[in-house]
Amino acid sequence: VALTRAEAAALDARDPLAGFRERFVIADPHRVYLDGNSLGRLPRGTRDRLHRLTGEWGEQLVSGWHEWIEAPTRTGDAIAEVIGAAPGEVLACDSTTVNLYKLVHAVLDAEPELRALATDRDNFPTDRYVLEGIARARGLELRVFDSDPLHGPQPADVPRDALTVLSHVAYRSGARADLRAFGGRIVWDLSHSAGAVPVELDAAGVELAVGCTYKYLNAGPGAPAYLYVARALQDRLRSPIQGWFGQASQFAMERPYEPAEGIVRFLAGTPGILGLAAVEEGVRVIAEAGVEALREKSVALTELIIALQDEWLAQLGFELGSPRDPGRRGSHVSLRHPEAWPICRALIERADVIPDFRGPDSVRLGVAPAYTRFVDVWDAMDRLRGLVERGEQREVDPTPARVT
Ligand SMILES: *Cc1c(COP(=O)(O)O)cnc(C)c1O
Repeated sequence: VALTRAEAAALDARDPLAGFRERFVIADPHRVYLDGNSLGRLPRGTRDRLHRLTGEWGEQLVSGWHEWIEAPTRTGDAIAEVIGAAPGEVLACDSTTVNLYKLVHAVLDAEPELRALATDRDNFPTDRYVLEGIARARGLELRVFDSDPLHGPQPADVPRDALTVLSHVAYRSGARADLRAFGGRIVWDLSHSAGAVPVELDAAGVELAVGCTYKYLNAGPGAPAYLYVARALQDRLRSPIQGWFGQASQFAMERPYEPAEGIVRFLAGTPGILGLAAVEEGVRVIAEAGVEALREKSVALTELIIALQDEWLAQLGFELGSPRDPGRRGSHVSLRHPEAWPICRALIERADVIPDFRGPDSVRLGVAPAYTRFVDVWDAMDRLRGLVERGEQREVDPTPARVT
């Protein structure tokens, strides 16, 4: 065998990050959670912080804003540290979708020579929807190109005369793009990489990026997302949503709108302070563990999934839907199977393993190196193998669910 369970347990015993698991709420130790790339676990520190913060709200009421007002930039600076950006280049606010909308309009306003928008067909749906809407509103062409399904978009796919939106790690296959290899005007979506995969925005010369915080950054359902604008570009861009939080002197209420200096001009309305506190706490744990150490463990965990896939699952009709080269992969592995949807149901209902299903045929297994153990991967793969050998996927209700 690739590895026995005892050997997997030995890897956990030697794991320098093992202690970080205790920093998270583990409500059910039997459950194997491999969906931290959809919604990360709750850090214990976040629970305490939110409790303290509601206390502050209750006591301080409106005077709490003297401190809260800094939260979007302070939290942005904390995120900057884990995505290779400088202080003042990242702002925590709104959702990824809204941030993408703001940046795309801002670039098109500043650079009228960009006559088209572009993205790849496999990109995350919300990115495509935002671009479709902006293309329609501005009368621009949207070029949706087909990329290699396993390896994701390549530098040669990117048109030079368009503004392109790409994911750093593809949500279905897990393919990871080499940021340094790409040229042209690109907004990168870091949702599936930040917190598990090193992202060196400044070093790679990236100009624009967005991302969410509730996946590997563990900030909780609907926590504020972030946007990144390289310092050199900031003065030239204006948010298409002119709101009072992005205004130069916010409390000189009668003045006409004039964008604030720096990244804060991308704020729109009142930021969600509770959510921002959760982002700050989630990012703190990731920064403490260190992205390099997390990456090393993530690679080892995904390598274990692939080794067990080859040994146990290939003969049961599974096919690897992610790159084999760990250098080209993010922190999840997709296993393709014609019965992927009922297999996911059966895993959840009968095996207490939480993956997610990504159509048309992928069982997606995400490893969050801050808390996923080698035995978790081993157990999940073992339960998956047993379930498919017994044909249990044919015994569950195959009706598609609203959330998969
Ligand atoms: C999860 C994810 C999002 C989420 O967008 P929200 O607006 O924050 O819901 C966006 N893009 C990608 C690539 C994602 O994986």
